This record gives sequence, structure tokens and C-alpha cells, in this order.
Amino acid sequence: MKTIFELGKAGRKGTSIPKCDVPLPKHIPNELKRTEPAKMPEVTEQDAVRHFTLLSRKNMGIDTNFYPLGSCTMKYNPKFHENIASLEGFTELHPLLPQLRHGCSLTQGSLSVIYESERILSNLLGFEQFTMQPMAGSHGELTGVMLIAAYHKKRNNTKRKVMLIIDSAHGTNPASAAVAGFTTKEIASDENGNVNIDKLKEALGDDIAGLMLTCPSTLGLFDQNIEEILRLVHDAGGLCYCDGANLNAIMGRVKPGDLGFDVMHVNLHKTFATPHGGGGPGSGPVGVSKRLVPYLPVSQVVKRPDGGYSLEYDREDSIGYIAPFYGNFAIILRAYAYMLTLGKEGFQRVSENAVLNANYIRYKLKDYYDQPYDRYCMHECIFSGTRNLDKGVHTLDIAKALIDRGIHPPTIYFPLIVEEALMIEPTETESKETIDHFIETMIEIAQLAEESPQEIIKCPVNTPIKRVDETLAARKPVIADF
Ligand SMILES: *Cc1c(COP(=O)(O)O)cnc(C)c1O
Repeated sequence: MKTIFELGKAGRKGTSIPKCDVPLPKHIPNELKRTEPAKMPEVTEQDAVRHFTLLSRKNMGIDTNFYPLGSCTMKYNPKFHENIASLEGFTELHPLLPQLRHGCSLTQGSLSVIYESERILSNLLGFEQFTMQPMAGSHGELTGVMLIAAYHKKRNNTKRKVMLIIDSAHGTNPASAAVAGFTTKEIASDENGNVNIDKLKEALGDDIAGLMLTCPSTLGLFDQNIEEILRLVHDAGGLCYCDGANLNAIMGRVKPGDLGFDVMHVNLHKTFATPHGGGGPGSGPVGVSKRLVPYLPVSQVVKRPDGGYSLEYDREDSIGYIAPFYGNFAIILRAYAYMLTLGKEGFQRVSENAVLNANYIRYKLKDYYDQPYDRYCMHECIFSGTRNLDKGVHTLDIAKALIDRGIHPPTIYFPLIVEEALMIEPTETESKETIDHFIETMIEIAQLAEESPQEIIKCPVNTPIKRVDETLAARKPVIADF
């Protein structure tokens, strides 16, 4: 496909801009002045509209294709909540509007959204309080481990500098711990996909600040020894962090706070109705048990005795500011509307279907793909694309074959501890027909890989661009030829 710069003809124009009717500023330094006209696409309006409309149709998205990207999948993003997030009363809100003016307030509604979301999350997940400020999952992690650091510092526990991370963790875990000043120590998983308890015991000592554990893990598994793990870390004087970026399997079923976690982040832009992927704005609220409440960042929305809401800044032991104003308010708003829509039974229906759908795929595909852990999974299931390695078929080839067949590939090559990993998350909202179609397609690819591997290795054949050098594309992107 041509770029917009390659379309059209020299001198052609699709715009007519009125003559400038304000005086030109006099003092533009010469070196800032253009010496030749900017190179613009020389196309008609229709050329431009058709070009971008065609491009948009080449995209795969949740609105066009099944999208079983594990861990970070495009979970359910109801259109209804997009409407709520675009209500004028919210979108026209200025972050500097006063909380109270002439006895009335223009921000009470929005503050109540933040407060009530905070309360629902605290109840749903068993924590004392949440901060709604962090603006991504990784930002939530950073906030959470900073809270752990503040806790130890307050107790003059300067020796506690080591954060334990499990080898299946998302890369943001060690990164967040390092940014907060910890050194990290990796703990291996065992052959069942649980934390290796012996390795954990070896690592525990008086230099341990805490443990970061993903629940359910990125292997799509619920650790069968979770209570023992938390007890061991607590007995050693450490705190326990829960990475709850993907909650679809356990919400309404398990409260991580009740399990004994001290701090946890959730991704509103995964589990709670905001699209994920594309790197758009996110929100990663952090919940804490009682002992970490004093360190929460400012501001915190509080309910006053008169029933109104205020932003509270005056917190002596707070770690301070981690985000401006209301955090990513529109995302909190979507999550609030979503949580109210679901209610208690809705949360349970989500988790039930998330687990059912993933296990259905796991069961139906187990004869065709290798399974590193043969046990019930949570919201996602993991396979190894290793069966036809001797014929030259890798996981990457399976992913490309799926693209040719109109399905967004699952997450591949993550978690790192699974060889040729394929990480499939169907989400709870997909119909049985869609999931069956995916299963049939995966079986067809497995059989082709077995019988005519060349047919898989040459994929994709139906896309405008074939295989790209992903490293080069990231390091030296060709955005336009100026
Ligand atoms: C997505 C994800 C994160 C990070 O969230 P971001 O919003 O992308 O920063 C952390 N942990 C897990 C398990 C995740 O899936």
C-alpha cells in the first residue's frame, strides 16, 4: 500500500485555506523561518479520506475481530460506558474548578465518582482504602512499592532493600521495584506453575522488603499455596504486593486483602471497561491494608460529615504526589459505571464465564498443542508452540497464520519461562460460536503445521505487509519520507 505522500500528483491540493487576516509577528528569528514550503501530501480530499478509511479497515480491533491476547487482552469495553464518559458535565470539567464556591460546588458529582469507585474497589477486593491516582498498571506498581518503602523507612528498617519477584512476572514488576530503589531477587516457579516454596524460604531474610506476586499468575494459574507464601513473607518481616492487573477470573470470588496481601493494584483499563492496548490512557488504582493507609499519595477524596466530598492533601506520612488532579478521571468514570452495572452478581458472572471460556479452550486444544501445566486455569490458558519445531514451525508462525484467518493472535513468547509460549485469553463476553471458530482455526493450523509446514511458515499472505523486522521497526520507524 502506498503512503499518503506517494499518492496524488505534484501541485495537487485538497484544501483551501483563507488568506491570513492578522498581522504577521515582526520578530520571528530568521533561523526559525522556513526557507522552502513544507512538504505536504498532494492529494484531493477524497484521496485522503479513502486512504485513511482503507487503512483503518486494515486494522484488527476488538470491534472487528476476535482478540484473545492473553494477560493484556481487550476485555469487555461496553459502548454504553463510552457514552457516560462523554457526558458534558464530566468532559467540560476543569481540574482547577474550586471544590466550593458561594456555597455551591461544580465538582461534587465528580468527586463522588472517585470516592464511590474507591469504596466499591475496597469492598470488592478486601482492602481498607484505595488511591485512585495512578495512571497505569505499572504506575500503580511503582506507587505500591513506594508505599512498602515508606513503611519500612518509618520503622527505621533501612536494611530491607530486597524485593522478591516471581520468574513468571510481568516485566513491569522488577522495573517498578528498581525505580523505587529496591534490588530485586527472582524466585523460580515450580513444575506445577506455583511459587517454588523451597526457593522462597531460601531467599527470605532480614533484608527482605516484600514479595510481588501476580494473582492469578501470568501462567493463568491461581497459586495453590498462596496462604502459606504470604505467611512466610510476613513472618520474615516483609510485605506482600499483589499484581491484580487482570482480575476477570477472581473478582467477586476472592478478596486478595482477605488472603493477606498488604497492597495491590488493579488495571481499570483491562478489567473495568476501558480499552487496553495501543498505549492509551490507563488507570491503576492501588488498594492497601490498614497499616499502609498513612502513606497513601495525595490527594485522597474524603467524605465530610456534612455529606459532601473534599480533596484531602494534608497527610503527614504520605509519599506525596504521584499524579496531578483527579488521576485519569474519565477512566475511573467508566469503571464506576461498569461496576454499578455489574453489581455483586455481575462480578461473579464475569469470573465464572472468564474461567469457563478459558478452560473450554484449554480442554479442546490439549490434543493439538503442548500444555506446560496440565491443571485448571483461570481467565487464560497457556500452550507451548513446540510440537512442530522440528519442521520449522514456531509460535510466531502460528500467530501469523491466525492473522491470515481473521483472528488477532494471542500473546506470544510470554511468560518467558514457557518455551514458545502462546497465552490465550478469550474473555468472558465471547459467544460459544466465536470461541468454537477460534478452536477450529487453531486445530486447522496445528494439522497444517504437521502435514504441510510450509503453508504455515509463509504466513501471513493476506496482509498488505508481510513479516516485518520488529526490532528494526521499533528502533528505526519510517513514519514518513520528508
Ligand atoms: C498489563 C499488566 C501490567 C502493567 O500495566 P500497564 O497499565 O500496561 O502499565 C502489570 N502486570 C500485569 C500482570 C499486566 O498484565
